[in-house]
Amino acid sequence: MAPIRLAIVGVGKIVRDQHLPAVATDPDFELVATASRHGTVEGIPAFRSIEEMLAAQPGIDAVALCMPPQFRYAAALSALEAGKHVFLEKPPGATISEVEDLKRIAAENGVSLFASWHSRHAPAVGRAKAFLAASPVRSVAVTWKEDVRHWHPNQAWIWEPGGLGVFDPGINALSIVTHILPKPVFLTAATLEFPENRDAPIAAALSFSNAGGLSVEAVFDWRQTGRQSWDIEAETEAGAMRLADGGARLFIDGALAFEAPEREYPTLYRRFAEIIASGASDADIAPLAHVADAFMLGRRKVVEAFHD
Ligand code: NAP
Repeated sequence: MAPIRLAIVGVGKIVRDQHLPAVATDPDFELVATASRHGTVEGIPAFRSIEEMLAAQPGIDAVALCMPPQFRYAAALSALEAGKHVFLEKPPGATISEVEDLKRIAAENGVSLFASWHSRHAPAVGRAKAFLAASPVRSVAVTWKEDVRHWHPNQAWIWEPGGLGVFDPGINALSIVTHILPKPVFLTAATLEFPENRDAPIAAALSFSNAGGLSVEAVFDWRQTGRQSWDIEAETEAGAMRLADGGARLFIDGALAFEAPEREYPTLYRRFAEIIASGASDADIAPLAHVADAFMLGRRKVVEAFHD
């Protein structure tokens, strides 16, 4: 079968770090164009806007939208209405209702919509899910603490409304939690800490529960220097599970139970090819719904100003 002719929109950090290497080694995809106001990829036809690109290259089959979430809906609408399959970087949009609208438009146009959650494809996540399915869970603790100056230097959009602030990484934890827990949870309380000069939170503490009374506590913090923490711990009847380093390694009762090389983006592109081939969409909004709940239910605390 001929490869899927792919265009990438919003050429920035994640495109260079992950999309380009993943696409380059995937025989199901051929990168045929990019659209970005400034970014380009050597040797690939470059356009300044998605509209210009779609008009000039009608043979494009699919687009990967990698701009900040506040600008994703308009680009997705253009692509879906032009009959292209769409890969949405995480988070899939700035609001739940706009992502729901994209699902409807994709279905109407007979194309695939993929809301990608890269952390769900971290190496040990599948093992953690299998462990929790077999071991009744008593409680869960999520610790997602990183240094925003290191990971998001001078990214203005991330502090704007819709940029999600600390939920930009935190939603990765929520994408794993919603994937590995046998039953859904819902938010019961939250505190969001907003720097006095910013429109998005720098830290958040979240409590979740479910019909069975499970306790899930999550702490997200962008002010972490030194050791970075991306851990999900669960107390279960079969022992203590720790999914460490963003899903890279699984520990049971302190002993390493599984680790494997990281292949999140190659796996995402495999999944995108699979849903295109089967005519399906895959757009789970559960992680985004928890973030929306946090903004709805969360107590707001103003904290010291943040400067890059
Ligand atoms: P980024 O480096 O800021 O790149 C995004 C690119 O989008 C920019 O370089 C910009 O390219 C383009 N863009 C289009 N419209 C824009 C606008 N109005 N304002 C700012 N940029 C605009 O961000 P990123 O780190 O790649 O993140 C992009 C998305 O990927 C986010 O949703 C993020 O959550 C997700 N993601 C990031 C990472 C990571 O490690 N950084 C990991 C996984 C997922 P032009 O100026 O050329 O238009």
